[in-house]
Amino acid sequence: MDNTLKVARCVQCGGTSLRDDTREDTLTVGARTFTARLPMQVCATCGEGYIPGPSVEAFEGAVTRALVDVGASDGASIRWLRKAAGLSAAALGGLLDVRAETVSRWENDATPAPRATVYALGTLALAALHGQTSPLARLRALAEPPPTPSGPVVLALAG
Ligand SMILES: [Zn+2]
Repeated sequence: MDNTLKVARCVQCGGTSLRDDTREDTLTVGARTFTARLPMQVCATCGEGYIPGPSVEAFEGAVTRALVDVGASDGASIRWLRKAAGLSAAALGGLLDVRAETVSRWENDATPAPRATVYALGTLALAALHGQTSPLARLRALAEPPPTPSGPVVLALAG
């Protein structure tokens, strides 16, 4: 485990003897359950375990990738991907030109989400995972077009 992620002292008992270990963790999204072995530290004194936040984030990111890879479109997956994209139901609805209630119906399996919606959501979730914002910026520009510039648009060419 990366030393910068380690805790030096047990929050529970104050013990300073912590050993490296791993623990199998589980995440369930709708009908799918994912497991991964996460690094952790265990307090030798009281047995309290510490899983570093970045490991949890990596696990959640792997779940996001897995859901996108299989084209998961059930309500729970839509909700997971929306949250992974960092969007509220209202914000997603605004970007896709549907009401928040429509997003809610997708997420509650009352209405299937259109395939293009699932595709867009997967793209947004993966971009958020990789720290890219351009797909979101493009969708926002489509939802709220910026004013047409009055003069020429100056472009910087690569190379
Ligand atoms: Zn302890």
